[in-house]
Amino acid sequence: MDRYDLLVIGAGPGGYVAAIRAAQLGMRVACVERWIGKDGKPALGGTCLNVGCIPSKALLESSEQYHRARHGLGAHGITVGEVSIDPAAMVARKDRIVAQFTGGIKGLFTKNGIAWLQGTARLLGDGQVQVTATDGAVQTVAAQHILIATGSRPTPLSVAPVDGEHIVDSAGALDFTAVPARLGIIGAGVIGLELGSVWSRLGSQVTLLEALPEFLPAADRAIAAIARKEFTAQGLDIRLGAKVTGAQVAAGQVAVDFEDAAGAQQAQFDRLIVAVGRQPVTDDLGLDAAGVSRDERGFIPVDGRFQTSAAGVYAIGDVVRGPMLAHRASEDGIAVAEGIAGQHCHVDYGTIPWIIYTWPEIAWVGRTEQALKAEGVPYVTGVFPFQANGRARAMEAAQAACPCRNRPRAGRTHHRPTRLGADCRGGGGDGVLRQCRGHRAHRACPPDPVGSAA
Ligand code: FAD
Ligand code: NAD
Repeated sequence: MDRYDLLVIGAGPGGYVAAIRAAQLGMRVACVERWIGKDGKPALGGTCLNVGCIPSKALLESSEQYHRARHGLGAHGITVGEVSIDPAAMVARKDRIVAQFTGGIKGLFTKNGIAWLQGTARLLGDGQVQVTATDGAVQTVAAQHILIATGSRPTPLSVAPVDGEHIVDSAGALDFTAVPARLGIIGAGVIGLELGSVWSRLGSQVTLLEALPEFLPAADRAIAAIARKEFTAQGLDIRLGAKVTGAQVAAGQVAVDFEDAAGAQQAQFDRLIVAVGRQPVTDDLGLDAAGVSRDERGFIPVDGRFQTSAAGVYAIGDVVRGPMLAHRASEDGIAVAEGIAGQHCHVDYGTIPWIIYTWPEIAWVGRTEQALKAEGVPYVTGVFPFQANGRARAMEAAQAACPCRNRPRAGRTHHRPTRLGADCRGGGGDGVLRQCRGHRAHRACPPDPVGSAA
């Protein structure tokens, strides 16, 4: 039986980063990963690289280029002729980018001496894990430390089951090879807004059906209100307080029944995306056999060193409660590897930034004004209007603002204020947020994906 110092289950941005950091620290590492890519071949990189951050940002960029060519160049004095769109070519470009990234992780595994065990892992207890390969071959391996980084999957909605053609989840929505004339999206969260923006820019009439009466409740209220106004101006029809009660496919169309303040209604769409959140992948993992407990929603509780209820078994990323973000998973991955190696192990979740990659971008870090008020934390607010920022004006992104919330200071001091939270609505949100949180973080965590992370 092969033995490792660390066996990582899952090669998403949590697992592959942890595996590489552990190998750098001298451990003998293996990583079990079962993902099969669109080309039918095994792939590393998890949700983020295969069907998440990377492909969605590729499509956001393509659709933005198209939209700008059609609508955004006049202000610069540039006139273009007829502009057309080939969605299949756009999706093929996205697939090439995904392949480059997933291949890159394979190269990093080889370089760092990490064994990729292709297949599905199942904990057996006593430091042993069974790996069943796609071809059915079964092997058992042993490890001193086991790290669960099995990520998340889209939350299904019983009233709108995904059929992969007319009703799709976020992965399916990355592969439309024709622009749907009428696109419905259940859930006006991060995925709904990003993918809604992609297909709206390409010409779809997009309707978002959101169950909550509030728009983007995690964001600061002022920022959410401006963002909603702008999305509406861009043509996104956002219906709040909409309870979907059914979805039927007939004659190539999807009829969606929902109720909102105006009563029971039906809307017809050519395609429907279900984007109502994600749930942890912790079933069929043998957690009971290994003594690893789960909470009522399937997340794995961990302590400050990412240790689960079973000694020597750790968990990070989307399977642990907290923001379901790639850079958070990677921060967890570095911290857990360093902790196992006996080093300092800490992630400051107060400095994990959010960016919604719409145009303009919506970004925030730390606590919102509402959260500070609710917690009774004293704060002062400073607002920097982007009209005064030369770069933002040059980018035609000057309509936004960047409010920062700081701890009040007594008297004059040369120290920078302690920042409690900040938001940004405009171009280059990453750079602004980096300035806002950098001085507070043990190690500043860049949002994923951003150029400055290089
Ligand atoms: P995952 O990336 O989900 O990886 C888990 C891996 O474990 C998978 O490869 C899976 O195959 C494997 N696995 C599961 N069970 C087993 C098993 N039993 N045996 C073997 N392997 C197993 N986040 C951002 O920060 N920025 C973004 O811009 C962004 N965009 C997104 C866009 C979309 C459309 C989606 C869906 C998500 C996006 N996210 C984004 C979220 C981000 O993808 C996740 O937070 C991140 O991938 C979580 O990383 P992880 O390593 O915890 O899990
Ligand atoms: P989300 O939690 O952001 O949004 C889901 C939305 O669906 C919520 O507003 C929720 O109220 C709504 N909803 C839930 N049930 C509903 C129902 N029955 N009918 C109508 N609306 C309903 O989740 P998501 O958009 O699926 O994205 C999942 C996660 O992936 C995000 O929370 C985020 O962590 C990650 N992600 C991040 C990025 C980024 O960082 N740029 C991009 C995409 C995804």
